Amino acid sequence: MIPVTTPAATGPFPPDDPTLPTARECLLCYVARMLEDHGCDTSLRWSLRFRDARSPTATGLARRLGGMGGFCDCELLLNAYRLARHLCVRDLATDELEAPAEQPDCAGVRRTSTHPCANWERQRGLAGR
Ligand SMILES: [Zn+2]
Ligand SMILES: [Zn+2]
Repeated sequence: MIPVTTPAATGPFPPDDPTLPTARECLLCYVARMLEDHGCDTSLRWSLRFRDARSPTATGLARRLGGMGGFCDCELLLNAYRLARHLCVRDLATDELEAPAEQPDCAGVRRTSTHPCANWERQRGLAGR
């Protein structure tokens, strides 16, 4: 196997704003990435930032997310969507599927899409149906 050189963690920031979604990054991967670095401020701050950057005409987004139980960014990942099964790892102690330690790379979406990529699936818990 060819060794892969990882970029230095302390390199200069890219010229573009690191708190903006990358070219084909989807809403959910973006929000998950931002929550990891910045946390949730109990609003849809990151979701709306994504919308403004990528799909400013998607004015119904907050309502759509709220309808799925996502009234703030972290609830989106708690109530509305979860990482698809094929990306989860089995915890050998509890035999439960868990999110991997490192978030997988976004599978990519159309540039103006506000829908999640193939890495995510709708939660079908009590709230959903
Ligand atoms: Zn929250
Ligand atoms: Zn994604």
